[in-house]
Amino acid sequence: MNTAHDPLATRAQAGTEDLAARFAKEFGGNPDGIWQAPGRVNLIGEHTDYNEGFVLPFAIDRTARVAVKVRPDASVRLLSTFGDQGVVTATLGSLRPGSAKGWTKYPLGVMWALRERGIDVPGMDLLLDSNVPLGAGLSSSHAIECAVISALNDLTGAGLEAEEMVLATQRAENDFVGAPTGIMDQSASLRGSEGHAVFLDCRDQNVRLVPFETRPADLVMLVIDTKVSHSHADGGYASRRASCELGAEVMGVKALRDVQVGDLAEAAGLLDEVTFRRVRHVVTENDRVLQTVELLAGEGPAAIGPLLDASHASMRDDFEISCPELDLAVETSRASGAIGARMTGGGFGGAAIALTPVGLEQAVRDAVVKAFADAGYKVPDIFTVSPAAGARRIA
Ligand code: ADP
Ligand code: MG
Repeated sequence: MNTAHDPLATRAQAGTEDLAARFAKEFGGNPDGIWQAPGRVNLIGEHTDYNEGFVLPFAIDRTARVAVKVRPDASVRLLSTFGDQGVVTATLGSLRPGSAKGWTKYPLGVMWALRERGIDVPGMDLLLDSNVPLGAGLSSSHAIECAVISALNDLTGAGLEAEEMVLATQRAENDFVGAPTGIMDQSASLRGSEGHAVFLDCRDQNVRLVPFETRPADLVMLVIDTKVSHSHADGGYASRRASCELGAEVMGVKALRDVQVGDLAEAAGLLDEVTFRRVRHVVTENDRVLQTVELLAGEGPAAIGPLLDASHASMRDDFEISCPELDLAVETSRASGAIGARMTGGGFGGAAIALTPVGLEQAVRDAVVKAFADAGYKVPDIFTVSPAAGARRIA
């Protein structure tokens, strides 16, 4: 059954030679190089980032690639192989927050953020080719930004460390694009490694790579994009953050990261009922991340199913950021053979992940498609992802 209708969900990515040829055709001459950066899936640790807690994303085998050639002047020409926007031209000196439109916000935002850091960014021609599905919660925007910052870090000789590139892309997203995102997505994209998840401490950016391979365990990671837009989430996101801040204040800590599972009984007496449930999600989710890391290092991925399930229940019941489509995707995956499933990303729509035995992949796909059809929901996009390498130069 072909469940994909997003062109990027099934699209093969152009090889480096094809991309260079396309670049030559559009801009003339060979690119100076080609850099790629992956999208990401968050395995576990949701809404813990802004509570200075733990997250466990992994870089996926879908990437944004940019072919770049430095120009002798200060102009920038940008083209994506996706969509029909054509070549967009900008001038480095006139980049301001709000000055760019569409997908060019992401590469131009990175150029702006680097210039704000005092880095001498040259004019350039840039061709983007990505097979990270857009808006499916796989961070197609950070894939672009991380490919661009990797390219510019090399081309300018700026020598930025991964931690600095993480902050520069955050600046680009927050201040140039205007999206209130944290550091998880770009940390996974820049610091990910094949066969590993990125255990990230959002308090100090400390990273530890944790072995995470699905195939050797006869598992596949399915992503189920519900096609429900999370654009209505703004109010929900802000109110969740406000509850967390209130909870931390009442508990007398800097951030909810500093509250332990053993403190929850005390918290129940101090907080109103809703705030308590919000706090309980964050506190138990942080603990689940730590447990997942331990299990992955020991027993392996087949052992983490119950933690994924518990994470989903916590987001559905305590944090209240799921939606009927996500719940149906999770419940149906579990009922048809997945060993663990949860919504992933900010919530109110987007995607779920289902850790599934290889032999049951088709059964899970078919069951989810049927359940969505029966419920009258949109056709979901379902695809597999595996833990892949982080950003790097490929040509
Ligand atoms: P997410 O990062 O979760 O995929 P965002 O809304 O942050 O969702 O980013 C999606 C946006 O990224 C798209 O609207 C588009 O502007 C841009 N984008 C992603 N991939 C491409 C591409 N291959 N070509 C052009 N634009 C892209
Ligand atoms: Mg994004």
